[in-house]
Amino acid sequence: MDDCIFCKIVRNEIPNTVVYEDDDVKAFLDITQVTPGHTLLVPKKHVADIFEYDADLAATVFSRIPKITKAIKASNPAIQGMNICNNNGAVAYQSVFHSHIHLIPRYTADDSFAMQFGDNSADYTADQLQAIADGIHAQLED
Ligand code: AMP
Ligand code: ZN
Repeated sequence: MDDCIFCKIVRNEIPNTVVYEDDDVKAFLDITQVTPGHTLLVPKKHVADIFEYDADLAATVFSRIPKITKAIKASNPAIQGMNICNNNGAVAYQSVFHSHIHLIPRYTADDSFAMQFGDNSADYTADQLQAIADGIHAQLED
C-alpha cells in the first residue's frame, strides 16, 4: 500500500510519535490530539476497515487495547475515562482507510470530544427488534 499514510507511519517513512509497537501493531499519537494523549492503534498489515478483519487479526489488534489504554491513563492523573472508537466507512466518519482504533482519554464531560446517541426506542416493537436480530443472526458465519 504505497499511498497509505498509515502504512507510511508503520514503515517510519513519515514522522510519527510512537506510543507502543510490536511485530503486529503500532500505536502513535493522533496528530489532532482531540484530547491530550489521543492515540491511534493500527494493525501493521494494511486492512481498510473492520469488514476486512478475520478473527485472528481482531484478536491480535484488540488484545493490545488494555495494555495501551492502561498506560495512557496512568500517564496523566487528570484522565478520568477513555472513549475507544473505530470508524468504518466514510458515513461513519472514517477518513483514513487503513483501519485504526481511536483511544481518546477523557478529562471532563465538556472536553473536546463528544458523541451523540439518539434514542429511537419508541419507534420499535419487540417484534420489530426480533426481526432485526433474526436478520443479523441469519448472516453470522462460523
Ligand atoms: P478517522 O476519521 O477515524 O479515519 O481518523 C483518522 C485520524 O487520523 C484523524 O483523527 C487524524 O487526525 C489522524 N491522522 C491523519 N494523518 C495523521 C498523521 N500523519 N499522524 C497522526 N495522525 C494522523
Ligand atoms: Zn495502510
